[in-house]
Amino acid sequence: MSGDKPSKTEDEYFAKEDAEKKKRLQKKVKEERAHEERESTRDIWHMTCPKCGAKLSEIVFRGIKIYKCSECNGVWLDDGELQKLAGPEEKSVINEFLKLFKPGRVSPD
Ligand SMILES: [Zn+2]
Repeated sequence: MSGDKPSKTEDEYFAKEDAEKKKRLQKKVKEERAHEERESTRDIWHMTCPKCGAKLSEIVFRGIKIYKCSECNGVWLDDGELQKLAGPEEKSVINEFLKLFKPGRVSPD
């Protein structure tokens, strides 16, 4: 017994520090986990048809790399490749169609 009163402010300070530290750590762990999940999901889905799960084969069409499913014959393109296929025509049907996928349209936040 030293007789010293434990400083409440100090306790609170350390408790707060501790909570902040834990929060930061949790956030870091969460971010790392999300990153890992993204990576593994990408591995699973890489070169796999999103529709039927069959293997995609890479083919080059007019200098543009496209992915074709061997099962359902679905064709998949990387970002920007549909625009390349559509050409510069501003009012082409494909460009109108692509406007639907402009970011910010689906989720307002
Ligand atoms: Zn398929």
